[in-house]
Amino acid sequence: MALFGGIEAGGTKFVCAVGTGPDDIRAEIRIPTETPDITMGQAIAFFQEQRTQRDIAAIGVASFGPVDPDPGSPTFGYITNTPKPGWPHTPVVPLLKEAFDMPIGFDTDVNVAALGERRWGAAQEVDTFVYLTIGTGIGGGGMVNGNLLHGLLHPEMGHMFVPHNRERDPFPGVCPFHADCWEGLANGPALEARWGQPGETLPPHHEAWALEAHYLALGVANIMMVLSPQLVVMGGGVMEREHIFPLVRQEVKTLLNDYIQSPTTTDALDKYIVPPALGGRAGVLGAIALAQRAWQIDHDRL
Ligand code: ZN
Repeated sequence: MALFGGIEAGGTKFVCAVGTGPDDIRAEIRIPTETPDITMGQAIAFFQEQRTQRDIAAIGVASFGPVDPDPGSPTFGYITNTPKPGWPHTPVVPLLKEAFDMPIGFDTDVNVAALGERRWGAAQEVDTFVYLTIGTGIGGGGMVNGNLLHGLLHPEMGHMFVPHNRERDPFPGVCPFHADCWEGLANGPALEARWGQPGETLPPHHEAWALEAHYLALGVANIMMVLSPQLVVMGGGVMEREHIFPLVRQEVKTLLNDYIQSPTTTDALDKYIVPPALGGRAGVLGAIALAQRAWQIDHDRL
């Protein structure tokens, strides 16, 4: 049986794995994200070494962004204008293609995590849903009618604009492009800068969490209005403080004001706004699922 490679290419670490799914990972490494030369080199060396022992049919990449996910574009598979030093215009897919003669799947980290949750996690029963990560940044991906969300480029849900009441919250926001967009007000660094300590150490009853839940709920309610998702999966470092989930659900309920009439959103928000079932594994497992899709597409074409 063919095996697949997955790369979760994150801003702080790369996770590379070989296997077929959550119960079948044959090898895995974690590499700190340094320069593209060093880190891509280590990732490629890992798969080259693996190939001496096993048959790998395709590789999938879940990349931090922004990226070019359009297979018809000359810069398909590039990381584009990221603020991360050294990484703008990194040709991730071309580097892999140069090293491996096999299909390479490529998408945003959040779309790929969504795919992982659809295949093996919280979203197995739905076709239209979003996967949000609330951490160093805020990102959103997902599926509409079973297709990963693409378009002009890819969604940038973290940079939507949400109401900012400067009397309640004079904090200016941390987004280098927009200051007080959703990410600028509610990502991990905003939480830390506003309250003078990282989210990991803020106690559950600190007033920080009510405000954080308010901002997160504003974004979630907007996404619900635009995409009508059947499920909202929320992961990332900030959401690891699980006491925030009931606060976000309550704020969403208040904002919706019973306008969206579905049994899930009126009575069962605890089943509607959920953590990823794959936890922090959604990215790398999703990358393996993406590799399987890339292989299947290639196979159907032949
Ligand atoms: Zn922004």
